[in-house]
Amino acid sequence: MSNCLNCNAALTATQKFCGECGQKTALKRVNLHDVLHDAVHYFTHADKGIFTLLKSLVLQPGLVAKEYVEGKRKKHFPPLNFFLIVAAVYLILGSITTKYGNTALQKRYRSNNYASAQQITKPDALKQAEGIKRMEKMVKIGRFFSKYSNYVAMFAAPLISLLIWLLYFKGRYNFTEHLVANLYLIGFTNLFRCMIISPIAILFSIPTENRSLQFGFMLFEVVYRTFFYYRFMGEYNLAGKVKAFLVAAGTAIFWSALIAAIFYFYIVWG
Ligand SMILES: [Zn+2]
Repeated sequence: MSNCLNCNAALTATQKFCGECGQKTALKRVNLHDVLHDAVHYFTHADKGIFTLLKSLVLQPGLVAKEYVEGKRKKHFPPLNFFLIVAAVYLILGSITTKYGNTALQKRYRSNNYASAQQITKPDALKQAEGIKRMEKMVKIGRFFSKYSNYVAMFAAPLISLLIWLLYFKGRYNFTEHLVANLYLIGFTNLFRCMIISPIAILFSIPTENRSLQFGFMLFEVVYRTFFYYRFMGEYNLAGKVKAFLVAAGTAIFWSALIAAIFYFYIVWG
């Protein structure tokens, strides 16, 4: 007769795993191999590893979230863990990419300033003053972006979950279940943004504030969210598709309006 080293539950001699917490009963002293193995396992586990999760998020958007809320908790990489890991990657890569992005932006303004200084004539002086004002504003927005956008992106999950829960009023899922879906979804789109979009933008020296780039990413998010929510909600007919698209478009509009409002207040009072 012995007790579980993890939770102290009583064990019988034949038990290989604790009936209360599931830990192995035969444990040796911890060694470095175990510690490393646990960490590697966490990411590469065939079922619940992060790479399996990513593959599913690419090939079958919405499936993991659906299975997770419906009870397959052990099968999948946990949503908040995924979101926080992506947040760490996003903050690290984001601080690098915005640095490069801002340098590209400043370079462009400097050359613009130089070009306009070359052709300056007296009646153009007022125009130029306006231009400089506009540029200063743009740089200010750029600075705001590099300073806060990474953090703003992190508050997206609870806010957007609340919105979608309201949009699917009296739908099958509660707020927390929508939050689970959005931790997976936003985690994935943020990962896509910082690992694929931003590096490409830097490669072609497009500033992160570039409007078409922002718009392109928003379009990607709408398409991805449509597929994701279509599968997640489990209403597999035309109405389900239309609802998923409307929710995705509504989310994009809500989010753009919110960002625009933040910018507006930042520029007015900042
Ligand atoms: Zn135990």
